[in-house]
Amino acid sequence: MTTPLANPDVARGWLAALIDGEGCVYWRRVGAHTVRVITITSTDRELIDRALEVCALFGIDCSVSGRDGATPRHRYRWTLDIRRAAAMQRVLDEIPIQHSGKLQRLRESLSFARGLHCAGCGALHDEQTAGCRNCSVRHRLRGYQAAFRARRAARAAAAEA
Ligand SMILES: [Zn+2]
Repeated sequence: MTTPLANPDVARGWLAALIDGEGCVYWRRVGAHTVRVITITSTDRELIDRALEVCALFGIDCSVSGRDGATPRHRYRWTLDIRRAAAMQRVLDEIPIQHSGKLQRLRESLSFARGLHCAGCGALHDEQTAGCRNCSVRHRLRGYQAAFRARRAARAAAAEA
């Protein structure tokens, strides 16, 4: 289906306005970790679905969940969360947020994010630049770590069975 959001500039502006109006940018330190999130909540599923499409268009990792409202007056609501630092950095790079307070919190939350960019080529850590040695080592290590976690989970499942 073709929508105006297939136009990248329209999509950028649309998501920016949605975040400016309905979005919340939040971060805090929890011990050694930092919790960061851009969250958009709506009772309108279509709005959240469109936001998901735009995030996919720009490679912004996000997740959608739904829950009942806190009171009977509040209907079922959908939430789209952008939690990973690399994804939030993408929002900062690609989406022209105008709300000064939200923009400032987004910048603050990313100002001390560690290891966001490849030391070799500057690409975001999730990306891989052909020919960059740092990228290739990083992604190979991730593959090992994922395989290790999968084996450990399989052993745990076998032990429980
Ligand atoms: Zn690299």
